[in-house]
Amino acid sequence: MKTNLRIAIQKSGRLQEGSMALLKESGLSISNGRGQLKTQVRNFPVEILFLRDDDIPQYIEDQVADVGIVGENVFIEKNKQNTLVKKLDFAKCRLSLAVSKSENYTGISWLEGKNIATSYPTIVSQYLKANNIKAGIHEISGSVEIAPGIGLADAICDIVSTGSTLLINGLKEVEVILQSEAVMIASPNLNSDKNEILDQLLFRLDAVNSAKNNKYILLNCPDEAIEKITSVIPGMKSPTVMPLSRKGWSSLHSVVNENDFWNKIDQLKSFGAEGILVIPIEKMIL
Ligand code: ATP
Ligand code: ZN
Repeated sequence: MKTNLRIAIQKSGRLQEGSMALLKESGLSISNGRGQLKTQVRNFPVEILFLRDDDIPQYIEDQVADVGIVGENVFIEKNKQNTLVKKLDFAKCRLSLAVSKSENYTGISWLEGKNIATSYPTIVSQYLKANNIKAGIHEISGSVEIAPGIGLADAICDIVSTGSTLLINGLKEVEVILQSEAVMIASPNLNSDKNEILDQLLFRLDAVNSAKNNKYILLNCPDEAIEKITSVIPGMKSPTVMPLSRKGWSSLHSVVNENDFWNKIDQLKSFGAEGILVIPIEKMIL
């Protein structure tokens, strides 16, 4: 039988859409009927398993799945036989400690002897240990933010992105324990066939991610400005320069990093660039 790489992604929740989008942009043709537990990718040796995100590290340790996409927070909390293969640049959030708004929080030592409600007991106990604090940990699996209000705990440790959930529940964020984003994890024991498929997939993910961060740029400029403009937008190797039918002018094509674009545009204009077009790139192989 042909080798398949089994990739576990979240069945539903905050990681689902981003995980699917990433795999689809990498050219994997996935049909996911509602409620399906697994599906065979039609054009790539990959099988997708749809699971609860919290279960994915264990499935990988048990070699039921080979690769998975989870939050870094879950990867660290579960602490299974998994290796972090790649950070994926979506589902960015942080794991923070929060206390009731009315508390006079003075610093970490405030937590001494208190009770903390969380779904992340491993991470919290490591954090307390590192800071030499003794506090109780009350593990609950959901709705952690209501714990202080109902007298279950003095503080919570939970995922925060904008902080609005904390605010609604009368809490304030007091310490950031961990920054997290979606990550690809894998079993450390993949055979060579599976490793090869994983490498192909990672190659495609890199091409997709580079493309997202870069834009194709076209502009017209007087010939004498070509050298200066090239120094500002050198592109992948060097820009393409083509003569315009108007004498003394050229069209210059290059690639520019999205984050640099607005800084560079004034410079390009001052060198005489005109008719600047910026176009998205779909895939980029460096
Ligand atoms: P499941 O039912 O699969 O167990 P869940 O409730 O544990 O789902 P989600 O809320 O879907 O999980 O979150 C999954 C992951 O997404 C989290 O572990 C975290 O890494 C990330 N995440 C959670 N909340 C946010 C947020 N507000 N913004 C960005 N990323 C988030
Ligand atoms: Zn979960």
